[in-house]
Amino acid sequence: MKIRLAADLQTDSIVDGVGVRTVIWTQGCSHNCPNCHNPQTHDFNGGDLVELEDVIEEIENLSGQDGVTFSGGDPMFQAKECSILAKKVHELGMNVWTYTGFTYEELINKGSKDILDFLNNIDVLIDGKFDPKLKSLDCPFRGSTNQRLIDVPKSLDNHEVVLYKLNKNMINNKKKEAIYI
Ligand code: SF4
Repeated sequence: MKIRLAADLQTDSIVDGVGVRTVIWTQGCSHNCPNCHNPQTHDFNGGDLVELEDVIEEIENLSGQDGVTFSGGDPMFQAKECSILAKKVHELGMNVWTYTGFTYEELINKGSKDILDFLNNIDVLIDGKFDPKLKSLDCPFRGSTNQRLIDVPKSLDNHEVVLYKLNKNMINNKKKEAIYI
């Protein structure tokens, strides 16, 4: 199986979630958010097709990382492939954050087994399209205030959105200025 990626895995990020993280940049997005900073990731035929086994090997060889963040593009367009990678990340004791332009409710309403499998392997979901009118540097790890940090395991258990609670110690000094989703 192959996954379409926009770039190589990026290690040691401190702006894509709590802690030191590796980012997996997926290729493909049709949300067309105004002022998207990553238009090169939209083309569903762009980027590179990479063997999933090769990405798994890279994940197995990571060191000093607290977790892995799926970004893009929108990882939900490759939910099956991402769910396999996310399971591996959890097996290795790291956590999983994921950015998506869909809202949590839209994802649930799709009724897709692949998306549900992926959600079941996500700890924190940052959901919704980037809205430049709501752009803010005061919402850590998000680009605009409509986007939510969602505690996915609790949300699935409760059948409604439960927000992920950040405390001050979790927020890196450098705010997320690049807007990915
Ligand atoms: S901001 Fe993210 S979800 Fe929106 S168009 Fe760009 S890549 Fe897609």
